[in-house]
Amino acid sequence: MNVIQGRKPESVFRFFEEICAIPHPSFHEERIADYLVAFARARGLEYDRDELHNVLIKKPATPGREQDAPLLFQGHTDMVCEKNGDVEHDFLRDPLKLFVDGDLLGAEGTTLGGDDGIAVAMMLAMLDGELVSHPALECLFTSGEEVGLDGACAFDASKLCARTMINLDSEDLGVVTAGCAGGLRSELTLSCTPVPFDGKVIRISVRGLMGGHSGQDINSGRANANKLMGRLLASLTKQAAFSLISLCGGSKDNAIPRECEAVLSLPQNADLQRIASFLQDEADKIKCELIEDDRGFVCTVEPIADSPATVFSAEDTARAVAILSAAANGVFAMNRDVPNLVEFSRNLGVIHTEGNAIVFVFSSRSSMESYLDASINELDAIAAVTGCKTRHHSRYPGWVYAPASAVREAYLNAYRAVTGTEATVNVIHAGLECGVFYSKIPDMDMISVGPTMHDIHSPNERLDLSAVETFWKTLVETVDRWS
Ligand SMILES: [Zn+2]
Repeated sequence: MNVIQGRKPESVFRFFEEICAIPHPSFHEERIADYLVAFARARGLEYDRDELHNVLIKKPATPGREQDAPLLFQGHTDMVCEKNGDVEHDFLRDPLKLFVDGDLLGAEGTTLGGDDGIAVAMMLAMLDGELVSHPALECLFTSGEEVGLDGACAFDASKLCARTMINLDSEDLGVVTAGCAGGLRSELTLSCTPVPFDGKVIRISVRGLMGGHSGQDINSGRANANKLMGRLLASLTKQAAFSLISLCGGSKDNAIPRECEAVLSLPQNADLQRIASFLQDEADKIKCELIEDDRGFVCTVEPIADSPATVFSAEDTARAVAILSAAANGVFAMNRDVPNLVEFSRNLGVIHTEGNAIVFVFSSRSSMESYLDASINELDAIAAVTGCKTRHHSRYPGWVYAPASAVREAYLNAYRAVTGTEATVNVIHAGLECGVFYSKIPDMDMISVGPTMHDIHSPNERLDLSAVETFWKTLVETVDRWS
């Protein structure tokens, strides 16, 4: 392809283009793992590949650096596959079509996979001999990061010698991440009894909210569409007898939902006009509470002509409204040591109706395991009184900020030497593979860093080419100075 030809660091971009020609969606990392193994074999490097297609490649220290502490670099091989509606692209077969726009690199109509392909390319460049001098290197290419940190969780950490790790999965050049939250997903399933029905049907829709990431944006003050629907339904309970037919909101448990829709039945003699205007009044009051980001908020109420033969019973409807009202949402605790860092939060990301069941999907986050335990207990308690079943899964550990860190110091010094400016240190309220390694090897000294990327996980994903160059220089400088 050679779209990025001529840009520095050349070998990093050469490897990046090679990777982009190999399909590597989550759950399909076998081909990129083949490529990594072939790379290691061709260079006589020690490697290990496991069943999940995690690949570890080791390279001995250059002469004179044998006594320096080994360094582990780590990034993930899988990418999020999103494309624009009008684009023909098979992520399992087609190479990405790269283009350069000024200082930015993108892929035509699709995600680029700079997250985290640039980490893969950088580790390959290091292993390929681009570092003149280095201690023993371990480069770990993990699978399934985007779908629950699967590769990192399954990886046998006893294969690692290093106790210093540089994770290459951050997206802001000037920021060093030094801690992250853990999390878990919880599903509350309310099995409903269908009862015969003969009456009127309306659809209530909540739309126009900003949404955002359920971790990084949970403290933004943005409203949750599912919770707002809960407010409207709880108010409506005082005005009219109604039964739910379906309840659906949000699309991802790790996103703040922007939309929610409830279809419900009312008695044949119900005054729809009055009910619609009551709901509108309630929505207007809510609108006054919302922040500027959510100014697009609208609530619509519309009659539906065709009515189903059955609806959920009045008791089940009351249970659903109780869950929506009782399950707290948003920020529950702030970190004691790091200003403005959320310590504990929960997001009711998704509600869907499947047959005769309504499923509520929550994502809880904290770097402290005890808070995650508390979240489980709280949701179990709500489930117990409302007659739901709960399932908690995909739990991953957090990474607690370490006041002193040799690798953080080394990287910050290298960054200063390369750029003449200071990088900032950040702790995030979102998950990283670092949390998994922290739980496996608690004395692992870690940072997470990366070049600047924009709009990851969307077809607008762009990788900043100059940032890649500066980032690479900083890594080289860090390795040079490391002892
Ligand atoms: Zn990533």
